[in-house]
Amino acid sequence: MKTIICRHCDMVSNIPHLPINYVAKCCRCGGALYKNTKCRPSVLLALSLTALLVMIPAFYFPLISVNLLGITEDTNLLQGALMMLDSTPVVSVVVFFCAVIAPTLLISCIAFSSLCLTYNYFPASIPKVLQLTHSLMHWSMLEVYMVSLMVAVFKLMSYSDLYFGSGFYFFITLLLLDMTIISNYSNHAYWERYINGK
Ligand SMILES: [Zn+2]
Repeated sequence: MKTIICRHCDMVSNIPHLPINYVAKCCRCGGALYKNTKCRPSVLLALSLTALLVMIPAFYFPLISVNLLGITEDTNLLQGALMMLDSTPVVSVVVFFCAVIAPTLLISCIAFSSLCLTYNYFPASIPKVLQLTHSLMHWSMLEVYMVSLMVAVFKLMSYSDLYFGSGFYFFITLLLLDMTIISNYSNHAYWERYINGK
């Protein structure tokens, strides 16, 4: 029987046979060991390529327009993340990393590994890409950016007129694609496909 090491407490456990979409948990710390998802790299390849295309308008098109005292100002996601660069550079860099760099890298890594597994091509860089994908999972925070954006919108509504730009709808689409990709992706299943196919 194959074994797995818990990444939370380092306990070694046997991998039980799990039905699809069930999660095995560590018997010592209760942390998730792995999720048995149906490995479908071709579906994830299509979804991640779509997400990469949607990212361009989601990041560059106007997210919201603010009309205050007759002056209208548009802001897109990139401008929003870098707006605080002068006053609070650390916050600005963290927001830029979590809302732009990490999601872009994460989706690119999933697209690359899905492309390789779909066409049974196993280059030496796949282990590094799978490790990077696992690390980036914790840093991709598009949903946190969405929540903070909605809080800002509700606060500003009482002071000015707000209009959602086309970038907002692309951002919602990107968020839904991102959540679908992450919920269907299994790093464990990709490692298994790589080891068995190599
Ligand atoms: Zn554990």
